Amino acid sequence: MRDLIVIGAGPAGLGAALQAARAGRDALVLEKERVGGRLNLARAVGNFPWPAAGQTSGAAIVRGLRRQARRSGVRISPEECRWIDRTGRWFIVRTAAAAYRCRAVVVATGVRPLPPAVPLDPAVARLVHYRWNDIPMRRGGRVAVIGAGEVAFDQACSLAERGAAVTVLCRGARPRAYAGLVSLARSLGVRLMLDRPVSRIETSRIPGVTLVTPRGRTRADAVLVAIGGEPSLPALTAAARRMLGHGLYIAGDAAGGRRQAAIAFGDGVDKAMMAAGTIGKDGGAC
Ligand SMILES: Cc1cc2nc3c(=O)[nH]c(=O)nc-3n(C[C@H](O)[C@H](O)[C@H](O)COP(=O)(O)OP(=O)(O)OC[C@H]3O[C@@H](n4cnc5c(N)ncnc54)[C@H](O)[C@@H]3O)c2cc1C
Repeated sequence: MRDLIVIGAGPAGLGAALQAARAGRDALVLEKERVGGRLNLARAVGNFPWPAAGQTSGAAIVRGLRRQARRSGVRISPEECRWIDRTGRWFIVRTAAAAYRCRAVVVATGVRPLPPAVPLDPAVARLVHYRWNDIPMRRGGRVAVIGAGEVAFDQACSLAERGAAVTVLCRGARPRAYAGLVSLARSLGVRLMLDRPVSRIETSRIPGVTLVTPRGRTRADAVLVAIGGEPSLPALTAAARRMLGHGLYIAGDAAGGRRQAAIAFGDGVDKAMMAAGTIGKDGGAC
């Protein structure tokens, strides 16, 4: 039994947990994979106000947040939330091994990447990735990146720095990432191809894949897809869903809106404060 369960330990979940710890709430964070969430993938983050102004890697920010969470007594359990229910005045948060009863829940589960809008047969699918560090790296290995936003270019830079020959295929006439990041990618040798919507990805006898676009074909040993994501929410029963905004809150990237780490962290703090209001009104245990 807890005051608050936070689901997900990315920036939003950590923001919520730190806020709850500061307010003396009995909170528990469930994380199914890696503390820090998608921020771990970021090569250089220049718009997070901590630990120091300036460019720093997402992983370095996560290390700092983790330390702060430990010092604040935040408890993180390596579990995946399967579903959330509401019975009487309690939420029930179910994992494979346990059922937690709590007065409020902050869901901070981020997004799952969108697949490319082309059919992927199994031979192609095994060469298609959504995180740069899942790609088996080989110096000079060719990686085609589908997508032209910040997440696509940041990962293209990470791959290029590790010796990959990277081509970014941009659907439109100009990239959506900010100019400084695009210039950095170019300076690292990343090739940018504009007006290249991918209509097919094919295998051939030569290992690797061919990406077919109306303006030509690009061969690659692996494909990285970075074309956005959709909220990755655990299952909510109808009774739980009715409590959205009244004890059950969605924070960070999962809530929609602009996907930036500082916004997610702040949203986590905000949702934990709203949750505290609910717990208080409910005559809860704190
Ligand atoms: C390559 C890249 C570069 C980026 N660069 C920047 C940048 O420069 N500046 C910036 O501000 N932002 C950047 N971002 C975006 C930033 O990382 C995200 O906005 C931020 O991580 C969102 O935080 P979040 O906590 O909402 O979600 P996430 O970071 O996605 O965290 C969600 C967490 O929930 C966990 N989870 C999901 N489902 C469950 C479940 N059922 N049970 C338990 N745990 C669960 C996941 O494992 C994950 O750890 C970048 C992202 C990427 C991928």
